[in-house]
Amino acid sequence: MTKQLPLRQRIRKALVILTFLSFPITMNFLSPYVIIDGAMNGIVNGSLVMFGLMFVSSLFLGRAWCGWVCPGGGMQEIVEPVNNKPINGKKIDWIKWLIWIPWISLIAWLVISSGGYKTINLLYHTQGGISVAGSPDRPIFIAYIIYYGVVSLFVGLAIFTGRRAGCHTICWMAPFMIIGRWIRNRFGWASLRLVADSSACADCKKCTSNCPMSLDVNGIVQLGKMENSECILCGTCVDNCASSAIRYSFSAGK
Ligand code: SF4
Ligand code: SF4
Repeated sequence: MTKQLPLRQRIRKALVILTFLSFPITMNFLSPYVIIDGAMNGIVNGSLVMFGLMFVSSLFLGRAWCGWVCPGGGMQEIVEPVNNKPINGKKIDWIKWLIWIPWISLIAWLVISSGGYKTINLLYHTQGGISVAGSPDRPIFIAYIIYYGVVSLFVGLAIFTGRRAGCHTICWMAPFMIIGRWIRNRFGWASLRLVADSSACADCKKCTSNCPMSLDVNGIVQLGKMENSECILCGTCVDNCASSAIRYSFSAGK
């Protein structure tokens, strides 16, 4: 008989798949281009607000967005049956910073040179809140090209490289949350995190083999220090540990 995933993981998978299915609606609320366009034209837009909310959420929830609701996560997890190979994140995690730093610098420069934000349009680059839609100045096929371009990038990386490769390499949203986590850790205030009891660990390494971010979870359990900037708090390790050596905690820590 096929073994079902633990209930919490089924709920989590359903959530990320549903957000992926909603991506034709939400794409321009998560767009690196819409932010650039908004900066050029002085318009506070939906993407800017969403990235700000992701940063704020990471101060208290770490990267739970990535594990539980991100459409980018959903589109990569949906192809896990095609390629579930773990990847060596340590070798490639830096790539996203190579993309993010010039991008955020360009936005800052555009905001300053255009005289700052002047108006708010949360539905900017959407038709009544729908992203993949046509408009008099932009035919719908352009929106489809952008949509399939983004999906192909994330799905292609996951298929040809391995588990959630896009999260490690190209994601423009992850750095906001990594910085938020770093600030939280500097101040040490209470937030959602993992805690481990290394004395309960049976060393079966199921946590490591199941981690969607390919982290050496067993190694960090043994060290008793669960903080890792690539951990997306998905809880897969928590739910696969028969010894209950790992658990969620809302607590202070570094
Ligand atoms: S790293 Fe990026 S694509 Fe991956 S889950 Fe997080 S926000 Fe989504
Ligand atoms: S360490 Fe655990 S919670 Fe973090 S990404 Fe891996 S499986 Fe998910």
